[in-house]
Amino acid sequence: MMHTEIQSRRQIAETCNHVSQQDVAELTRALQGGLSGTADIVGEYEAELKKVYDARHAIAVSSGAAAVLAALASLPHQPGDEVIVAPTCPTCTVYPILSLGLTPVFCDVAPNGFGLDPDDLRHCLSPRTCAVIEVPMWGYPVDVEQTAAILEGRAIPLVLDLALSHLTRLRGRFLGQYGDVRCFSTQDCKFMSTGEGGFVLTDDESLAERVRAYTRFGNLAGETVGLNLKLGAMQAALGLSRVRRLGAHLASRLGNRSRLLAMLDNPAFRELPIVPGGEVNGFALLLQARGHDGRQLVRYQQERGIPSEVGKFDSRPLYERALLAPYRRDCPHASSLLRSLTTVPLHPDLSSEELDYIAETLNRYVPESAQEA
Ligand SMILES: *Cc1c(COP(=O)(O)O)cnc(C)c1O
Repeated sequence: MMHTEIQSRRQIAETCNHVSQQDVAELTRALQGGLSGTADIVGEYEAELKKVYDARHAIAVSSGAAAVLAALASLPHQPGDEVIVAPTCPTCTVYPILSLGLTPVFCDVAPNGFGLDPDDLRHCLSPRTCAVIEVPMWGYPVDVEQTAAILEGRAIPLVLDLALSHLTRLRGRFLGQYGDVRCFSTQDCKFMSTGEGGFVLTDDESLAERVRAYTRFGNLAGETVGLNLKLGAMQAALGLSRVRRLGAHLASRLGNRSRLLAMLDNPAFRELPIVPGGEVNGFALLLQARGHDGRQLVRYQQERGIPSEVGKFDSRPLYERALLAPYRRDCPHASSLLRSLTTVPLHPDLSSEELDYIAETLNRYVPESAQEA
């Protein structure tokens, strides 16, 4: 019974690769026009993004990290100023902070979620705080309204890193409609793919101008500093085609999620609780081990060909990495949360046979501590 037989080396794909006719049509159209980041098709893509999120401004950029970098660079700051962020986010969110000569301050999350803990956030705020970043992981909403309320009146901007949280909702609105500036990634493993890419959304006109200028060498005017972080026309063409079909994509992911949840029946884990009023985007199913170390579950599924994003991102708070150790600030909730979790893919390429395999495999999981009992 305890014999764990690793059956047929099957491997579930980490992400989907469904190239459509519309993709090909838009790519062909892009090839016939200009190919640079200032080509018309980039503007068309940005217009479509504004429509989806009802945002005043959208700036397409070359990656999610570029989006965070451009957003932070465009907010008022002095060298050494502090940016508050949870240590449950990936290094991708924190390296832009370091690149700008800013200091990350790790704030703990509220129990069983990725949202900043209100008490610890108040504790972390200082006269040097220049921004707070919320990073909802794997499409699970966090209460950004609560965080915004704490920052209100302090003139500290709230940045949302929604690299994994396209179309995630809170109280009926997309998370992409909260905060002062929102950053997205469209890298191949994210919710929507343009291969590499990202975008920034904001309703603040002068902030939007600064973000755009920063991504274009400060408009080459020699007045403000910038880099070249523009998204190329080919990626924008793919984005344009895919953002138009985002509704169907979301429905497919949420359908896979419902099917899987209906089949899962193992008391060794549960789905991570969703904050009140929140709706996930079906990017991944987040499972939380009950009463044992979730890294066991990560290993178990990986050995059976079911990829885990937690396995990829590591199960430790960021300050336990060598480069970030100088910024260590113990965050007990973050630490126990990361150790308890795994993710399961829900992307539209999964066949129903693969979903059955995932459910059966997870239902057979028995944690070691329970095995000994
Ligand atoms: C992937 C990711 C990024 C970085 O996006 P890239 O497009 O890979 O640069 C930033 N933040 C989070 C939360 C991510 O998951």
